[in-house]
Amino acid sequence: MSPIFYTELACQSLDSQVLDDAMCQRLLSDPSLEILALLEAAFKVRQTYFGRVVNIHILNNAQNGHCQEDCQYCAQAKSSKADIEEYGIKPDEEILREARRAYSKGASCYCMVYAGRKASSARIERLKRILVQIKSEFPDKEICVSTGFVSVEGAQELKKAGLSRLNHNLNTSEAYYPRICTTHTFQDRLDTLLAAKKAGLQVCSGVIIGMGEDITDIIDVAKRLRFLEVESIPVNFFLPIAGQLRPEQKAPLTPDFVLRVLCLFRFLNPRADIRIAAGRELYLRAMEVMALYPANSLFLQGYLNAKGASDENTLRMIKDAGFTIKSEQKGTVPFLGTGSMDLKTLSELRPTQ
Ligand code: SF4
Repeated sequence: MSPIFYTELACQSLDSQVLDDAMCQRLLSDPSLEILALLEAAFKVRQTYFGRVVNIHILNNAQNGHCQEDCQYCAQAKSSKADIEEYGIKPDEEILREARRAYSKGASCYCMVYAGRKASSARIERLKRILVQIKSEFPDKEICVSTGFVSVEGAQELKKAGLSRLNHNLNTSEAYYPRICTTHTFQDRLDTLLAAKKAGLQVCSGVIIGMGEDITDIIDVAKRLRFLEVESIPVNFFLPIAGQLRPEQKAPLTPDFVLRVLCLFRFLNPRADIRIAAGRELYLRAMEVMALYPANSLFLQGYLNAKGASDENTLRMIKDAGFTIKSEQKGTVPFLGTGSMDLKTLSELRPTQ
C-alpha cells in the first residue's frame, strides 16, 4: 500500500480541510489499509493539538431512570427493561462528594448526568446551586452537565453559575435518527447545542456507533459535529440494553473497525477532545491502548449504567504507553520518557510522488 493516502489524511486534517466522503469511506472500509499506518497518521494530528496528554473524564448519574423518552440505546428510557437502580436527584452533598472523588482520581472534567427530556426551571435552579459549590472548591477544574433540552436563557444561567460545558449527544446522523428515537427529533437536539453555543458554553456532543447505521451515517454525524465546532466528542460503541434496540450491524464492531472510527473522528475534528467512551473494553480488548493514538481522552469508572475497567488498569495502561494524564502534567513532558514521535512539517509530510 502506497503511503500517500495516509499522509494525505494527516495533511488535509492539519490543514483544516474537511476530508471528502470518498476518503472517509475508504478509511472506514478499505481492507488493504494498514491499521498501524492509519493510527500513525491520526497520531500526527492528535499530537499537534494535544501532545501525549490524556484528559480523564468521570461521569456521575446525578439522577437515574424515570425518563419518558424512548431512546433505543438508553437504559433509562421508558421502553428499557434493563435492571437499573432508579432514583431521583441525589442530595447536593452527595454530588459534591462525588465531584471531590472524581477530581482526586485525576479527572480534569466531572460530568453530571440527569435523565429526562428537558431541564425544568427547578432543575436549573438546583444545578446552579451545585455548580457554585463545586466551582468554589475547584475553580480550575471543568464541569460538564447533561440535562436534556436547554434554552439559551437556561444555558446562560448555567454558564454564569460556573458551568464549563454542556453535553447533549447527537448520537447518529439526521437521516438515521428516527430509527433510534420517536419521542424527539434530531433537530430538537441540534437546537440545544445551538442554544449552548449561543450562551457561550463549550459543547460536548457524542455519538454511538453500531446501532445499525450505515457507514455514511457515521461520516455524516462526524462532519456535522465538525461544522458545529463541537469542542468535545465522546465516541461510544453500542452496548445492547434489555428490551431495547437489537441492531443488525452493517460493520461489526471489531477492534480494527473501532480504531478506524476513532481515526475518522480525529481527522474530521482535529482540534476536538475525542473521547473513547462506552464499549472501549468490550470491543477493543487487547487493542485498547491503541485508541490513545487517535483519541486524547477517556472515561474512567464506567459509563452511567455500564461498568468499565478498573481505575487502576486504565491508569496503568495510559502511563505504560508513555502518555501523560492532564492533571499530572508538568509542561508537556510525558509521564514516562518513551520519546514521542517527531512531528514533521506539512511540507515534509506531503508526498512529492
Ligand atoms: S432523554 Fe436521555 S435519559 Fe431519557 S431515554 Fe433519552 S438518552 Fe435516556
